[in-house]
Amino acid sequence: MSENLATVSYIGATILFILSLGGLSNQETALRGNLYGMVGMALAVLATVFGPTVTMAGVPWLVGAMLAGGSVGIYAARTVQMTQMPELVALMHSMVGLAAMLVGFSTYIDPTASSHLTGAAHAIHALEIYIGIFIGAVTFAGSIVAFGKLSGRIGGSPLLLPGRHFLNLAGLLVVVYFGYQFLQAQTPADGMMPLIVMTVVALLFGVHMVMAIGGADMPVVVSMLNSYSGWAAAATGFMLSNDLLIVTGALVGSSGAILSYIMCNAMNRSFFSVIAGGFGTVASAPKAAGDAAQPAGEVVPVSALETAELLREAKSVVIVPGYGMAVAQAQHTVFEITKHLRDKGVKIRFGIHPVAGRMPGHMNVLLAEAKVPYDIVFEMEEINDDFPDTDVVMVIGANDIVNPSAQDDPTSPIAGMPVLEVWKARTSIVMKRSMASGYAGVDNPLFYKENNRMLFGDAKKMLDEVLTALKA
Ligand code: NDP
Repeated sequence: MSENLATVSYIGATILFILSLGGLSNQETALRGNLYGMVGMALAVLATVFGPTVTMAGVPWLVGAMLAGGSVGIYAARTVQMTQMPELVALMHSMVGLAAMLVGFSTYIDPTASSHLTGAAHAIHALEIYIGIFIGAVTFAGSIVAFGKLSGRIGGSPLLLPGRHFLNLAGLLVVVYFGYQFLQAQTPADGMMPLIVMTVVALLFGVHMVMAIGGADMPVVVSMLNSYSGWAAAATGFMLSNDLLIVTGALVGSSGAILSYIMCNAMNRSFFSVIAGGFGTVASAPKAAGDAAQPAGEVVPVSALETAELLREAKSVVIVPGYGMAVAQAQHTVFEITKHLRDKGVKIRFGIHPVAGRMPGHMNVLLAEAKVPYDIVFEMEEINDDFPDTDVVMVIGANDIVNPSAQDDPTSPIAGMPVLEVWKARTSIVMKRSMASGYAGVDNPLFYKENNRMLFGDAKKMLDEVLTALKA
């Protein structure tokens, strides 16, 4: 493939990626957005493999690597459970970071990569490598810890080392000092030591940054690492002088940053403290056992039959799905119930919290999969004022996102986080298996409210029973 054709293909792929992002911003156009992304990626891969930078001798290697990587990808995509998606995404971010690190080291030791560069061009190339490996190492280590936290392999409570901020600052100074040493190095052998020291510091920084973040703040971390992985890819693009990788990385990096900003707003966190890492730890410190603010009281359990009765009598119903709906895979039954109630003339809507589930947009994906019409799915701020006029709210496997202590208890780890005010409805019904807390590990005073009912059991099983009772 000629250089011109490869450039045209790259421009085409870039346009398709931008159209893809545009499409993904809306549920109705998300499918089209995905298609644009897939075509763009196919074009990008073909233009790279058969482009001017790859010799024919390299093609079998690339095809072999693509077959191996593609097989792993297809296997993972086919076998992953919907509830494991956030972990998989975190793992994929870590791969981008690892790739940036490896490309950085190989570019540095490759004698052909920089032998033609002199003066400022040589220094800029070295700086690209140094920054690229730094971003890659932070992304890699941070994403691995995020994977551990999301999959429950690492506990959710924040690790608060003494002098945490000083440690980070000291790490940064070490990185800057060795960066200077690295730029002064005349040969790869001279520069290797500073590069390795910086990589180790960056890895430790990545681990520390995510370990210091409490369970309740994880959504911001997930979107932030998404952004970091984009910048790692862009850094790789600079190292390889690949324009498409730079543009694509910047698209992912900046869209991830916008998503982080949206998540920060949803969690009521400051964007800049998130970027610095280790944020919200004062508020996220776990409460002492037996804390006086712990709510206590009686809960009122109901049966599926009673739930069906309440729904049948209701004129307006709001469904609030959470992580438990994903675990139980209850979305299809939820849709059946929605259809049934709508046919009976009940006004039924969905209220979606921005951090419901375990990844941004988690609930929207599940509801779209079950074919719930988009026009009855509302965001938190669109529906929060309507709860006082709602007869029944069904909270399906959600906990933290409907926890009134976010508003009432300033010492709560989720204090200040906007929540769905379901307790303002005439009756709320919470469906979950036990009195266990949610991801943030906080007790929920909603359960003890007078107008709240608890429907204990697996969400899918209980909703099946409710549907049968409704149809009876
Ligand atoms: P929560 O984790 O707060 O609560 C989920 C509830 O579902 C649990 O209390 C659990 O109770 C219940 N549950 C689990 N399995 C089932 C089942 N099979 N049937 C019925 N109920 C079930 O989820 P929310 O969606 O309310 O809140 C999301 C939380 O996750 C927030 O704290 C958010 O910060 C965090 N988070 C969000 C991310 C995102 O990007 N969206 C990323 C990382 C974290 P029980 O065991 O009693 O059944």
